[in-house]
Amino acid sequence: MYRASEHRPTQAVVNLENIKHNIQLYQTKKASHQQIYAVVKANAYGHGAIPVAKTAIEAGVTGLCVATVDEAIQLRKAGISNIPILVMGLTLPYGIAEILYYDLTVTVSDLSFFMLALEQLKKNQQETLLKDRQLKVHLKLDTGMSRVGLRTKEEVIAFVDGIQAFPWVDWQGVFTHFSTAGGGPISYIDFQWNRWQELVDLIPASVTLRHFDNSAMGLYKAIGGQSDIIRLGISLYGLNSRDTVPNDLVSDQQLADYHFSPSEVRNTESQLDLKLKPAFQLITELSYVKKVEKGTCISYGASYVSQEDEWIGTIPIGYADGWLRAYSQIPVLVEGHACPVLGVINMDQLMIRLPKQFPLGTEVTLIGQDGKYYNHPSLLARIAGTISYEMLTCISERVPRIYI
Ligand SMILES: *Cc1c(COP(=O)(O)O)cnc(C)c1O
Repeated sequence: MYRASEHRPTQAVVNLENIKHNIQLYQTKKASHQQIYAVVKANAYGHGAIPVAKTAIEAGVTGLCVATVDEAIQLRKAGISNIPILVMGLTLPYGIAEILYYDLTVTVSDLSFFMLALEQLKKNQQETLLKDRQLKVHLKLDTGMSRVGLRTKEEVIAFVDGIQAFPWVDWQGVFTHFSTAGGGPISYIDFQWNRWQELVDLIPASVTLRHFDNSAMGLYKAIGGQSDIIRLGISLYGLNSRDTVPNDLVSDQQLADYHFSPSEVRNTESQLDLKLKPAFQLITELSYVKKVEKGTCISYGASYVSQEDEWIGTIPIGYADGWLRAYSQIPVLVEGHACPVLGVINMDQLMIRLPKQFPLGTEVTLIGQDGKYYNHPSLLARIAGTISYEMLTCISERVPRIYI
């Protein structure tokens, strides 16, 4: 295996072909009027924003979504132009010049954004920026997530009225976010759908992009197909937002070995069943191997004591790499064996129990497949009491990403 660093073998291997494959699955499912925007916020869920964005564009997506203006600028600076980049989080108006210069689409849920932005441009004598370009915006509606967005008809009517005072604003879209499509009471989807329809009815017809699909809603038959844009996040990376574990990748035997019953983790809703392929692998190598005698204390706090004479491997990955202390119950894979972590996870290293002696430099898989086991992010997230979104976005910058 190619190594990103001569000095440390820990690395993430990102399979861009799998990302293309996942986009294609959605392309075959979507209605013909629907566009797919690739959600590449948080460094593309840890996969690397620039390579993932370029791959997604090659696969035919017609827009990108990020959380912050800085993430959007990073993409523009990498030469990604001529494609809309929607900043989905709320943005401060003070950076208006950059927003215009880099041709970003921002999310607003308040008219004061425009007032403050205009003041800022005047203050810096940058009003000329508005001569040859308009500020592209999408309005955010809060239909039940209670995060950001207008909530009532009165607020929407006031916004529709007030925005006319800002002819330099190009109001292109309106969107909302469903909070339970990826988990939680399904009936809440109907509640949000009703509120969405009530509010979106008040939006002028000139606002043509009306969207609410994330990965999970994109597969939600009843209404998912009505969203003009599918903001494709977790499924782009081959995972299901409910962290179900597909049986083509993880066997029932492995579930049993990992102490799960199939009913806990298998997908029971056939509409959510796509043959998604995870794109993220996390690997390292044994950096130290030794045999210890029974009763040897291992790791900080003497948090493990060997039960007998045991082979111990040390690997160069720890919580500063994003392999968090909360992951100590997750086995790692060595030559097809699932090896338990011993004691607490350190900042830069951790210890595992080996079934026998292995040579230094033997590959160790933290996320990915080795023999009959597939350390699938959704399965691992369940062991650690988290979600795959968090696990992947936490893999730190210290871990180099390589692309295949
Ligand atoms: C992150 C995000 C998405 C993507 O959600 P997934 O569940 O990863 O598909 C879509 N819309 C908004 C507003 C988001 O913040």
